[in-house]
Amino acid sequence: MKEQQILGLHHITAIAGDAQRNYDFYTQVMGSRMVKKTVNFDDPGTYHFYYGNETGTPGTILTFFPWAGIGQGRTGTGMATEITYSVPAGSLDFWKDRFTRFNVPFTEAGERFGETFLSFTDRDGLNLALLVPGQPDDRQGWETKEIKQDTATKGFHSTTLSLQKIEPTAKVLTDIFGYRLLSQEGNRYRFITDTVKNAAIIDLLELPGGTPGVNAAGTNHHVAFRVADEDVQMKYRETILSKGLRITPKIDRDYFYSLYFREPGGVLFEIATDNPGFTVDEPLAELGTHLKLPKQYEAMRADIENELPTLK
Ligand code: ZN
Repeated sequence: MKEQQILGLHHITAIAGDAQRNYDFYTQVMGSRMVKKTVNFDDPGTYHFYYGNETGTPGTILTFFPWAGIGQGRTGTGMATEITYSVPAGSLDFWKDRFTRFNVPFTEAGERFGETFLSFTDRDGLNLALLVPGQPDDRQGWETKEIKQDTATKGFHSTTLSLQKIEPTAKVLTDIFGYRLLSQEGNRYRFITDTVKNAAIIDLLELPGGTPGVNAAGTNHHVAFRVADEDVQMKYRETILSKGLRITPKIDRDYFYSLYFREPGGVLFEIATDNPGFTVDEPLAELGTHLKLPKQYEAMRADIENELPTLK
């Protein structure tokens, strides 16, 4: 039963510097929808921004902790080093023009596993890519005035994890999460789950002797995998414990339930549920327009609003 398994990516979380600059980049340049404006539940003086498609469907959600003054991180091993969005065929020229217009650094289009992609970085130097998938992607993108359905990002295609040795991480993907090795190109190993059509791919990049990453602005914080509900999630918790790995208890993130564990290659993994979703505290039409606080901080709302940078 595929409902009992990992269903590809749920969300990916990275660290940013300035909140306004992050908001402008993802909502304006990239044309994503902000589906939730909340705070870091472990540090309520910091925002937590969620960007995605209209409803914030799992597999489309990129989230950020913007920490002003945190300093620049370093991309390296033991972290996700590329976040790859799926885009419509024929849209890469549009994106190149757009990146030029908005002074976004990008490289000329390349090819991997027969698929064309364009690498770029956000305002904090986070590595991303836009890729035209070989398999059709029928997900609807979020439209803005300048970005319509024929160019809009559709959600994740994949993410790349950089590792000194891929084997221990590969075993988590295959033996626990139900992925299989699809193909290999040089030191890049592509893993896929057959439970979903999209956001189903994880690439492992083997860099023996690679420099470990440093987690600060412009780097990835964790990668969350998707499960249907808490029953499935807690079964995974048992399996992960039985493999001798440490994992947190179930944590209520208001929009999903989470478990976190560090896989042996050093990447922080999360397992997150589909329920209850982003419309639990805001109607669909208003997603991302109000500052939402978890109930434990609601009494401190005035202080929190005071401390957070104002968003224009
Ligand atoms: Zn997360």
